[in-house]
Amino acid sequence: MSALPARERVEGFGLYNVSVSPVLRPASLDDLRAALAACTARGEAPVLRGAGRSYGDASLNPAGPVIVMTGLNAIAGFDETTGVVRAGAGLTLGALWEFAIPRGFWPPVVTGTMHVTLGGAVAMNVHGKNGWKKGTIGDHVESVSVMKSDGRVEEISRGTRAFDDVAGNWRRADPIVEVALKLKKVASGYLDVEAFVTPNLSATLAALDAAKDDWDYVVGWMDCWTTGKSLGRSVVHVANEHAVQEGEPRGWSVAEQLADIHMGPLPAPILLLGLRLSASGPQMRFLNIAKYASAAVRGRHRYRQSLVAYSFLLDYLPGWNEAYRPGGFIQYQLFVPREAAEAALVRALRLQHERGVVSALAVLKRHRDDPSPRGYALDGFSLALDFPVTRGNASRLAGLCRAFDALLLECGGRAYKAKDCVGSIERLAGARGARP
Ligand SMILES: Cc1cc2nc3c(=O)[nH]c(=O)nc-3n(C[C@H](O)[C@H](O)[C@H](O)COP(=O)(O)OP(=O)(O)OC[C@H]3O[C@@H](n4cnc5c(N)ncnc54)[C@H](O)[C@@H]3O)c2cc1C
Repeated sequence: MSALPARERVEGFGLYNVSVSPVLRPASLDDLRAALAACTARGEAPVLRGAGRSYGDASLNPAGPVIVMTGLNAIAGFDETTGVVRAGAGLTLGALWEFAIPRGFWPPVVTGTMHVTLGGAVAMNVHGKNGWKKGTIGDHVESVSVMKSDGRVEEISRGTRAFDDVAGNWRRADPIVEVALKLKKVASGYLDVEAFVTPNLSATLAALDAAKDDWDYVVGWMDCWTTGKSLGRSVVHVANEHAVQEGEPRGWSVAEQLADIHMGPLPAPILLLGLRLSASGPQMRFLNIAKYASAAVRGRHRYRQSLVAYSFLLDYLPGWNEAYRPGGFIQYQLFVPREAAEAALVRALRLQHERGVVSALAVLKRHRDDPSPRGYALDGFSLALDFPVTRGNASRLAGLCRAFDALLLECGGRAYKAKDCVGSIERLAGARGARP
């Protein structure tokens, strides 16, 4: 019987959830077959892991081995006429856009970080800032290839029941080994971004709703610290593809994409130190005030920005999650139906103040309904809330998450496993008796 490797520490992106597991890192399909066989021989069910960018415990295995899929990352083919790329499940969105942009293509759905794998993205069925127009990544996957328990590789096309059992099925045992994804043709690697502030929640929701049909990308950065009349005030960014003028660069090179990332005058190590010193403290309140105030002073304005700079703002400062050690941080993303959104989100914002734990970073998005059996997205809004975990706030935070669960049950909302660190998905599924 083959031995499994020595155990090592495996963490969720929020650093709050940890498992100590034997970790297997296949670099080929044969390696993966051998890894699965070794787990089976020992009677241990492995958990699959992409780049480990889920905030909580989705790609951890307290009970056994973890198989990291990032070694299966080759691009097997690209059809310039259809835009369909076939790539190993371990390829990251970062490597994919670097391949795609010089050819005039862009992934149809990208997450707030480029460091997720295709396999992890399909297993969670991730969404982007264009959730209203483009849905989730599964809507753009032509087929997936999975490795069955006997080592065979089977291709499954979208539109079948078997496919519905893969997209969004983060618990699935059979690894996704290849994804055929239809990329989007872009005339320009740039976006026209419009930025403006909204004074309260009602105005924020109305602004996102009004923008959703005219703009491809719609997102609100909410300041959760304000109360009263300013509750839910936000800085809103909407964006559409930039129409290239004669003689203007197309932004189709990797260098042009990266050139638009501006970190400000301070070097990354200083920024990380600043974040470490302030991440769990009241300073975050002032950062939120400063962000809102500077956007308010500028007023509604437009600027051109590369797709990379707009899409992956959270990647500007590599390793920023490390600033949250030792306690780590959690993210809770509430999905609420449109009709119930204002009342539910007012409640969610107030609950934070009542419990004395206020989110340092809050992102609001507009979504369309995902009718697939494992869909979590709905016709409504999602609010993703980041909370540092400290010795002082851990139990209040757990109480807040349970209160969010109750709120979602009451309003017909949903939570999202990619962000769940506290078992909310299990509690909600148990209470509803149905959804995964
Ligand atoms: C900064 C940041 C921003 C984010 N922004 C967004 C966002 O805008 N929208 C969004 O939807 N999500 C977002 N996420 C969450 C992230 O996109 C998802 O958690 C995604 O699943 C992570 O991909 P991964 O490759 O890291 O997979 P992991 O986190 O390692 O795994 C995720 C799940 O997929 C399974 N899995 C992984 N690979 C395979 C495979 N090959 N076959 C079968 N199952 C597999 C794992 O078992 C696990 O259940 C963000 C995360 C971060 C850290």
